Amino acid sequence: MSHIYLDYNATTPLDPRVREAVLPFLTTHFGNPGSLHALGRTARAAIDRARAQVARAINAFPDEILFTSGATESNNLALRGLAHARRDRGRHLITSSIEHPSALNVCAALEREGFRVTYVPVDRDGVVDADAVERAVTDETILISLMAANNEVGTIQPVAEVGALARRRGIAFHVDAVQALGKLPVDVRAWQADLLTLSAHKIYGPKGVGVLYRRRGISLQPVLAGGHQEYDLRPGTEPAVLIVGCGAAVELAAQEQAQDMARLTALHDLLVQGLSQLEGCTLNGHPTQRLCTTVNVRFEGVDAQTLVMRLDLEGVAVSTGAACSSGRIEPSHVLLAMGHTTASAKSCVRFSLGRFTTEEDVRAALAIVGREVAKLRETNLSLKT
Ligand code: PMP
Repeated sequence: MSHIYLDYNATTPLDPRVREAVLPFLTTHFGNPGSLHALGRTARAAIDRARAQVARAINAFPDEILFTSGATESNNLALRGLAHARRDRGRHLITSSIEHPSALNVCAALEREGFRVTYVPVDRDGVVDADAVERAVTDETILISLMAANNEVGTIQPVAEVGALARRRGIAFHVDAVQALGKLPVDVRAWQADLLTLSAHKIYGPKGVGVLYRRRGISLQPVLAGGHQEYDLRPGTEPAVLIVGCGAAVELAAQEQAQDMARLTALHDLLVQGLSQLEGCTLNGHPTQRLCTTVNVRFEGVDAQTLVMRLDLEGVAVSTGAACSSGRIEPSHVLLAMGHTTASAKSCVRFSLGRFTTEEDVRAALAIVGREVAKLRETNLSLKT
């Protein structure tokens, strides 16, 4: 059975062009980029090229780009590294209540160390109010961290506004742009970002590699101790194969963004229109200030986990709005922050579209979703009577 993959926010398949770029580094070009001989220099040159590709895509300088093992590590290094470097200036951080766990759990760890964190709430549409961020600022504030677009509901946050106020107040500003790259223009200067996180596997690159942009002059305390790689901030032999894949993927994401989004906006409209015709189906997240690739909906009276499993059996891959960790299904912290009850959050499903989604995929998925939701409702009804 062919699969209809509508879970691009979770991860994406490798773009064939990225695959071509990385293959020589899995075979012949195996040198350590730190070695002086020709094999080492080949790997070093490839890493330099990838650094330049990423820098160009986000309007940064190459020496502002660090490669990490992924966005989780980038968020850890940004938040922890900045907090530890500036702890003598103040011990207050600001973030939002709908960040990814790789940011929220670092904040929780910093709180245990004696830092204070303000979690700015969101409105019912899942949008952070820049004025509320400004009101949270104190003389002790050293860092504001905000995601550019949310991974669960796709809402786009006012990063440029928050960046401007952070710069005005002399506060460092970190942006988690994992879900934004390839969907919105990502420009570190326009956003006045001091730190910015990217992940390759969300943009058709390999898993296990990410980026931390660090503006010139911003000091971080490294999280890992070791060699001098990545400007003394990320020790360990650089994985040239992953970094080459990351560079190629970031370059393609920036180059093809306008074209990809024009095509995907039409598919988004088709999907939303089809879903809105199903009884008891409502959209989560802002109607317009939202990525066109993320459609999170609530099916009233339907258990989302059961629906996701039924859809999987029918060949449609989607996600629940709930976070699953070690087999325990928790209601999504994002949906709860938007005002959902636990029961309502557990009836939400996320459809996420991407580069290889076709109109046929969307039409076929809509037919299957309609059928499976109706079947589940019938079962619920017969259980009640
Ligand atoms: N931030 C956001 C917004 C994400 O969506 C994700 C991945 N779900 C991450 C961070 C973590 O990315 P990685 O898998 O590269 O660690």
